[in-house]
Amino acid sequence: MPKAQRSAPYPVVKLRAGREKSVLQRHPWIFSGAIAAWPDRLEDGDLAAIAAADGRQLGYAYVNRRCSIAARLVAFGETDPRAAIRESLARAVALRRALFDPERTNAARLVNGEGDALPGLIVDQYADALVVQISTLGMERLKPLALETLVELVQPRAIYEKSDVAARYEEGLTDAVGLLYGRDFGPLVVVENGLRFYADLKRGQKTGLFLDQRDMRALTEELAAGRRVLNGFAYTGGFSVYAARGGAARVVSADSSGGALRLAQGNYALNGFPVAPEDFVEADMFAYLRALEAGAFDLIILDPPAFARKKEDAPRAGRAYKDLNRLALAKVAPGGLVLTCSCSRFVDEKLFGQIVFQAASEAGRNVRILHRHRQALDHPVSVFHPEGSYLKSLLLSAD
Ligand code: SAH
Repeated sequence: MPKAQRSAPYPVVKLRAGREKSVLQRHPWIFSGAIAAWPDRLEDGDLAAIAAADGRQLGYAYVNRRCSIAARLVAFGETDPRAAIRESLARAVALRRALFDPERTNAARLVNGEGDALPGLIVDQYADALVVQISTLGMERLKPLALETLVELVQPRAIYEKSDVAARYEEGLTDAVGLLYGRDFGPLVVVENGLRFYADLKRGQKTGLFLDQRDMRALTEELAAGRRVLNGFAYTGGFSVYAARGGAARVVSADSSGGALRLAQGNYALNGFPVAPEDFVEADMFAYLRALEAGAFDLIILDPPAFARKKEDAPRAGRAYKDLNRLALAKVAPGGLVLTCSCSRFVDEKLFGQIVFQAASEAGRNVRILHRHRQALDHPVSVFHPEGSYLKSLLLSAD
């Protein structure tokens, strides 16, 4: 088919001179200031062809004029956008198939937004069910295409939508939650590295489990033998169950959510580990650590929720992270370990390092970094879109 005909159905959005550079470097975001003029025949959420000021075709994006990221590319160059979406989905699914043996791990992120060239789309697989999270108007409009392709590729028993993220409101959307495909289902049991976990996709946080920390849970298992472990911000006890399998002397799981801790006890039982109710503590971690006797634990895990959800929150979040780390570093036993994490994208790796430096200095301990980690393998970050990186973990040892 001649080029002109292929791009004919899509209105053309022209960029200002010089603003094609980031698109040529495959960055998927176009900010409103980069756009020279909007064509008349275009609605928010539509696909459009993106052209440089000299008319050169750069790719295809969906648009939303009410957002500062006014367009997000789903295809670069001449590739038809709908074909590109199907290809990106197939590539995303193939990558996870190559990473995981489903007998051992059957809960994984299948699609990680921009990291899989699919801006606005998250898809998590839990056994034979999928959970879909859509954060943009453009992807909302592409939902039928995405669902049809996912059904073809994965043949799931059900697809549940959990689009309840704040970003939707900026896009002019409201929450969308409910069954999209297949038969309704209750909480499932999944396997991760051979351990079994309840996953409540509907009522749980995120899409059910924190899949991005899988590698850190595995590291915890390796480090646990003979150690007294405090799992701070335990949620449904993921790190705790790994520590138990790793032969920890004791594991205390602390979280402010009683419901999450009940599931944590359930996960212990599911894996055949004895449940000591006093080791599941409903508490605010800051208060718990302040009251904690020094030296009571040899490994402290800190996996808090994002303290900064907006850029403006970063300074306040920084103080909270520092307090938390100072308390853990001050209280961990001599020679003990602290695994500290931050999932705020507005606290980057450099700032997190500075926070830990300050915390160690105030705790008066000599602290060394043994390991650094980012999100698990099924949460890829495009090298052209470093903004996709959000999680960072440091394994610290305190002399
Ligand atoms: N490590 C977990 C995920 C942690 S999610 C895993 O691997 O599955 C963050 C958890 O922190 C949530 O369960 C939330 O209930 C809890 N939380 C939030 N604020 C808290 C606080 N101030 N004190 C204790 N727990 C808190």
